[in-house]
Amino acid sequence: MNLEGMKKEIEKLVIEKGFYNKKEDIPKKLLFAFIELAEASDAWKKGESEERIAEELIDVIFYILDVSRLACPSVNMDEMFLKKLEINKKRPYQYGEGHRYK
Ligand SMILES: [Mg+2]
Repeated sequence: MNLEGMKKEIEKLVIEKGFYNKKEDIPKKLLFAFIELAEASDAWKKGESEERIAEELIDVIFYILDVSRLACPSVNMDEMFLKKLEINKKRPYQYGEGHRYK
């Protein structure tokens, strides 16, 4: 399943479960993505299983794709992924991390 397919599945789930589903809910959903990142970090710190950590990372992806559905519905996220990958590939070695060696 690609990102656009995941967006459709997430939308169905959001509607079915009665989750927040309006543009004004975008900041909340972004906060929830951070919370899921924190849960992944916590799972890592506690030495939990790879499966558990992966679950939390997928929760992050859920929220990110859910936000994309509301914030930029006309953007195809599969195309954007490829576009951004090409942009990042063209960046210099250790782009934005050069400060580590100063
Ligand atoms: Mg979670």
